[in-house]
Amino acid sequence: MSNVVNDGTVMNDIGANGTGIKSIKRLLIANRGEIACRVIRTCKKLGIESVAVFSDADRHAQHVQQADLAVYIGASSAKESYLNAQSIIDAALKIKADAIHPGYGFLSESTELITLCQSNDVIFIGPSVESIADMGSKIEAKAIAQSLDIPTVPGYNGESQDGAILKSESEKIGYPLLIKASAGGGGKGMRIVNEASEFDEALTLAKQESLSSFGDDRVLLEKYLVRPRHIEVQVLGDSHGNVVHLFDRECSIQRNYQKVIEEAPVSHLGDELRQKLFDCSVRLGKYLNYLGAGTIEFIVDADTQDAYFLEMNTRLQVEHPTTEFVTGIDLVECQIKVAKGEPLSFSQDQITTTGHAIEARLNAEDPANNYMPETGIIELYREPTGEGLRVDSGVSQGSEISPFYDSMVAKVIAYGSTRGLAAQRLLKGLNNFSIGGFKTNQEFLIALITRPAFHQELTTQYIAIQFPEGWKPWGEAMHMAIAAAAYAEQGQHDASNMQAGNPWQRKGSWRVTELSGTPASAWFCIEHGGELIEMSVQGRAGDYRVRVGSDNDDGANADSAKAEQYHVMLTRPNALQRDVTYWQVEINNTRVSLDILFTENQKVSLSSPRLNRSYSFVTLEDSLLGPAAALKDSSTSIRAVMPGIVTDVLVKVGDKIEEGETLLVMEAMKLIHNLPAPCAGVVKDVLCVAGDSVADGEMLIDIDPDESQD
Ligand code: ADP
Repeated sequence: MSNVVNDGTVMNDIGANGTGIKSIKRLLIANRGEIACRVIRTCKKLGIESVAVFSDADRHAQHVQQADLAVYIGASSAKESYLNAQSIIDAALKIKADAIHPGYGFLSESTELITLCQSNDVIFIGPSVESIADMGSKIEAKAIAQSLDIPTVPGYNGESQDGAILKSESEKIGYPLLIKASAGGGGKGMRIVNEASEFDEALTLAKQESLSSFGDDRVLLEKYLVRPRHIEVQVLGDSHGNVVHLFDRECSIQRNYQKVIEEAPVSHLGDELRQKLFDCSVRLGKYLNYLGAGTIEFIVDADTQDAYFLEMNTRLQVEHPTTEFVTGIDLVECQIKVAKGEPLSFSQDQITTTGHAIEARLNAEDPANNYMPETGIIELYREPTGEGLRVDSGVSQGSEISPFYDSMVAKVIAYGSTRGLAAQRLLKGLNNFSIGGFKTNQEFLIALITRPAFHQELTTQYIAIQFPEGWKPWGEAMHMAIAAAAYAEQGQHDASNMQAGNPWQRKGSWRVTELSGTPASAWFCIEHGGELIEMSVQGRAGDYRVRVGSDNDDGANADSAKAEQYHVMLTRPNALQRDVTYWQVEINNTRVSLDILFTENQKVSLSSPRLNRSYSFVTLEDSLLGPAAALKDSSTSIRAVMPGIVTDVLVKVGDKIEEGETLLVMEAMKLIHNLPAPCAGVVKDVLCVAGDSVADGEMLIDIDPDESQD
C-alpha cells in the first residue's frame, strides 16, 4: 500500500514482478508544460530515464531542461509538433523509448497515437484503443452508460442527425436545453438554447463549430440543468481485470465550462449518492476493461440531488494532484506500472482518503478583460512553499508564455486535515506566489476562495453569482500611480548617480522641471488597455503626488473629471542594494509590499501576493506620434489581438458593414476570438486569408468608415 508524503508526492509500492511484465527504462513524454514536468518527477522516482519532446517555441522550456533527454519534434504550432502523432512516434523510435506517456490534452485521447505505438512495439501509457473510441464520442459513451443503468442527463443521443428529428426531440426535452458536440471537449462546442425559436440557428452554428473544431458534426441534445454541480470519480484499472475508484472530486467552480478550482473530496454530498457514483464508475470501468487512470464525470442537479453521467476522460486529469494528496497514491506511478502489465498493488478496501485538498489553476490571462489570454516573458517568478503546499508548474523566471499553447502557468494545490485548513493554505500559497511580466488570474483566484459562499454548496454558477458584473481588480488607477512614482523614483536615482545611459536620461523628453522651491515634476503617459492615460508626478526622494488621468483643468474635457490624485511614498528596505526589487509602498495611507521591476522598453512591473501589473510608459512626444496615431488608426481597421492564426474571414473588399459585426475570426492561445468592426463603413482592404499566421498588432482588415455614422 502507498504512503502519504506531506508534499503530495507519494510512494506506491505496487512492486509486482511476474511473467509478462514489460520493462520501461526510457519513457518519452508526448506533452509539455507542467504535466510533462509532473511525469518527469515520477520517472526520476522510479529510476526511469525521461525524454522530453519540444517544438521551436519550447526549445528552452522547463520540461526540456528537467528531462534526461529531449527530442525536437517540429514547429511551434501544436499541429506540427505536439499534435503530430507521426512526429511523436518517430521521436520515440529515434531515441529508443520503451513507452510514451501522453499527459493530458494533445494526443492523450488519440487512437492514432496508440495504433502507431502498437505497430511499433512502444508501450502507450493509457487505456486501449477501444476504451478511447467508446468514450471519445459523447453519443456512444452515453449509450454505453445507459446500457449499464448509469443515469444520464435526459435528452437525445440517438443516431439521427436530421434537423427535423432533432427539433422534435428538443420539444420533448423542453427548454432550456444544451446542444453538445459529440466529439467535443474542453468546454468547446456547447450551445444553450433558451426557447424553441432559437433552436434552428443554434443547431446550425453548433454543427459548424463542431465540424471545424473536431472534424465531426454530430451533436446530442441535453436538458440544461440550471444549478449543476460538477462531480467526478477517479478510477484506476489494470490488465488483470481489477478496477478501483480513488474517490471523488468537485470541479464546480468553472468559467466557460472550464474548471478553475478543484477539490477532493466533494463536500455537501450525501453518503448514499456518493457511493452510487463510485459504483457506477467502477461498473463502467469494468465494462471497458479499463487500463490506467480515468475519470468519470457527473453532473448533480443541486435542486434535486439527481446525478447524471456526463462523460469519461480516458487520461490523467489536470486536477489529479488533489486525489494524490488525499489518497497518498501517485497516479502517474500507477499508470506506468499497469501499462507494464503489473496488477494494482491495492484492492478497493485498502484505499483510504484522509483530509482535503484544493487546487487552483494559475493562468496567464486578464480576468478584468474578459479573461483574455496574456503572453510574454515571466520577468519575476517565485513559487510559494509551505506545509501541505504543492506547486506543479512547467516554467521558471525568464520562461516565455507563448501564444501557441494554453494559458495555464502553474497549479497551486493545498492539503489540510480539514477543508478549512486546505483553503487557508491555498490562500497563503496564492498570496505568496510572485509572478510578474504579464497579467494573471492570481487575484481573481484569491477572490474566489475568500468568499463566504466558498464554504457552502458549490454550483457551476458560482462565478456568475459571486461576480454578477464581472470581476474587477482593486483600483487600476492606484496601481498606475504606484508604477509612475516608482518610475520617477528610479529615474531620479539613476540621474543623480550620473550613470551613463541611465533610464532618466533616456526619458529625456519627459517634461522634467524643478523650479526653485518646488519639487521636480514629470509628465508622461501610461499605455493601458489600448488607451494612453496621462500621468503627472510631482515630488522627490520617495514622496510623490501622482495625478492619474487628464491634466486638463479647463473643465471642457470630460476626462478631467476622472483624474485621480494619489500620495505615494516609496522606500526600499535597503537603498544601497540596487538589485533588490522589493519596496515598501504607502498609497493614500494603505501600505503594501511590492516587487517592482524595471524592464526594457520603458516598462514597469508591479508584483505582490495580491497584484500583478505591467505598465508601458510613453513620453509625451511619443504619445503624440506613435501610440496615439495607432489608436486613431485602430478605429478604422482590424488588427490581430495577439499572434495567432486567422481561421475565417467573413467579409470581402467592398462589403458594407455595421459597427460590431464580426468580420474575422482568429485562433490564438487555443481560443477563438471574433473580431468585430470598430465602425460602420465599407471594407477597403482585406490583408489576410484563412490559415494565415499573423503577428500581434498586424493589420488584417481596413475599413472606409461611414462618416454619416459619427
Ligand atoms: P467537455 O467534454 O467539453 O468538458 P462536458 O460534457 O464534460 O464537456 O461538460 C463540461 C461542463 O459543462 C460541465 O462541467 C458542466 O458545467 C457543463 N454542462 C455539461 N452538460 C450540462 C447540462 N446538461 N446542463 C448544464 N450544464 C452542463
